[in-house]
Amino acid sequence: MMLSDEELTRYARQIVLPHLGGTGQQRLKAAKVAVVGAGGIGAAVIPALAGAGVGRLTIIDPDRADLSNLHRQPIYRSRDAGEPKAALAAQFVRRLNPFVEVAGVEQAIVPDNAAAILSGHDLVIDGTDNFATRLAVSDACVASGLPLLSAAAAQWQGQVGLFTGRPCYRCFVGDAFDADDCDNCAELGVTGTLTGLAGNLAALLALRLLAQAGEVKTGTVHLIDGLAGTQRPIRIVADPGCRACGTTSSQPPSSAPPSFSPAPSYP
Ligand SMILES: [Zn+2]
Repeated sequence: MMLSDEELTRYARQIVLPHLGGTGQQRLKAAKVAVVGAGGIGAAVIPALAGAGVGRLTIIDPDRADLSNLHRQPIYRSRDAGEPKAALAAQFVRRLNPFVEVAGVEQAIVPDNAAAILSGHDLVIDGTDNFATRLAVSDACVASGLPLLSAAAAQWQGQVGLFTGRPCYRCFVGDAFDADDCDNCAELGVTGTLTGLAGNLAALLALRLLAQAGEVKTGTVHLIDGLAGTQRPIRIVADPGCRACGTTSSQPPSSAPPSFSPAPSYP
């Protein structure tokens, strides 16, 4: 996929990067990425991917901008409160980089529509705020063979992991979260810097994966501790009874607790 003179100028500082180059930039231009959730995580992921020249973005979010969320969603302005985030985020992308084709989808992802909305993308990045949506996204990705980057942040903690088939996100969190919601998120609190860190780490992994720059390990979740100032990776073990990716689907769902408590995330 050829790059115009204006694109070569726009991306000059990353085209000179080792492991990226013109070939990597062309791969980014050819890529189609679905960003599920245009909240705190998405507000970091979307500018990073659009600025870097990922060719096509689909931004999926059913909610509207809210004043109480702006501390972690800097792509929106105060006067945007009450407006649909998917459309606002798409407008942000068009203003940042006219070479990116962007579509805003004002829908919540549920098991019945997940495959239809996500199919046709090269990568799905999930930064939504509840486990039911994240599991619906993950199950659709497993069924469709789509790679999934999952990012979450709450309070001072962040988690980012790439899943490609098995183990999957459901192996990580288990089935108990299917009916969970995030009604208590407003009480837990979150720092906008943590959603930004987690979102930018997800974007970094996405760009490396799409440009084929270095190895991105799958089935590894990076844990960010904002209070301790540390980050460490943990390996996720495949659950043989996982109803999404398991090889023994006749078994009852595993009741084993996850090896690390999965964090809720903020819209
Ligand atoms: Zn699984």
